[in-house]
Parts: sequence; C-alpha cells; structure tokens
Amino acid sequence: MNTDQPFFRFNPNAYAEGRSFKCSQEVCEVCSRPCVWKYTGSIYAVATPIVCARCIAEDRLGAFLDDGLFALHDIEIVGAEPALAKEVLQRTPGIACFNPYEWPVLDRAPLAFVGYGEDEELIALPGARAAVEERFGEFGWDYAPSQYTLIFKEVNGDRYRVVIDLD
Ligand SMILES: [Zn+2]
Repeated sequence: MNTDQPFFRFNPNAYAEGRSFKCSQEVCEVCSRPCVWKYTGSIYAVATPIVCARCIAEDRLGAFLDDGLFALHDIEIVGAEPALAKEVLQRTPGIACFNPYEWPVLDRAPLAFVGYGEDEELIALPGARAAVEERFGEFGWDYAPSQYTLIFKEVNGDRYRVVIDLD
C-alpha cells in the first residue's frame, strides 16, 4: 500500500485528474513533509493550510486547526452513524460543488461519491444510469450526461443515489 496515497472509501476516486488532489512537493503545513498528493479541495474552517492526503486520512487536520467542527465539504449529512458522518466531513476529501447539498445516506451509512454523470464508464455500470434517470425524472427531465450530476454508490452494496448540483 502506498502510504502517500491513502484510500478514501467515501471518495474512492479522489486522486483522479481534476478531483481532490494534485502531485506536489510543496511542504504540508500539518506534517511538515512534502505533500506528494496535495489537497486542492475546500476546507471550511478559519484557516486553510496546505495539507497532504496522509494528514486528511489520518485525522491530523482537526488538531492542527484546533477546530473540532471543521469540514472538507459543503454538505448536510442526515441520519448517518455519527462516526461515519464525521469520517465523511473531516477525513474524506471534498468534492467541488456549486451549492450545499445533502450527502446520500442509506441504512445509517453514507454512500461513496463515485463520479459525475458525464463519465460514460460509470454510467454504463448496472444501476448507475437507472439512478440518474430516476432522479432526472423527479425533475421532469430527460436523461442527459451532465457534469452537474453527482453519483453516489453504497460502499458495501450496489444501490446508487444521485445529487443534482446546478450552478
Ligand atoms: Zn501532511
């Protein structure tokens, strides 16, 4: 396992190009080591230090910020086990979004963000497109690939949920 590139179960594709990290030798302000993977997402806190993937995964950011309520997401998360909700908010790299949204939860477990509606390979997976079509249908829209469609999937299951994030 590459410890400079820890896996985030609620954002498993966080290292994909243009997502939550970029390769960088800048020094992480939390652990004082070269980042390797520098976080490029938002930090909702008073300070926004340069931080590496390791420090997010290993829960060092809250102590550094001296802020137990900081978050890496502009979301609401309702009905999840508190420890899992905290893992999403503080130990899962954030997802760029235009508006605050509600992170999907099923059976008290947060789902994982797996990608956007413009990702053809993702949409081809069983269940993914159906979930998007169902959500679009609630708005009275026809299906279309869209970067504004956030797709979530159960960590230990195959159910999908879809969030529409319009700008
Ligand atoms: Zn660090």
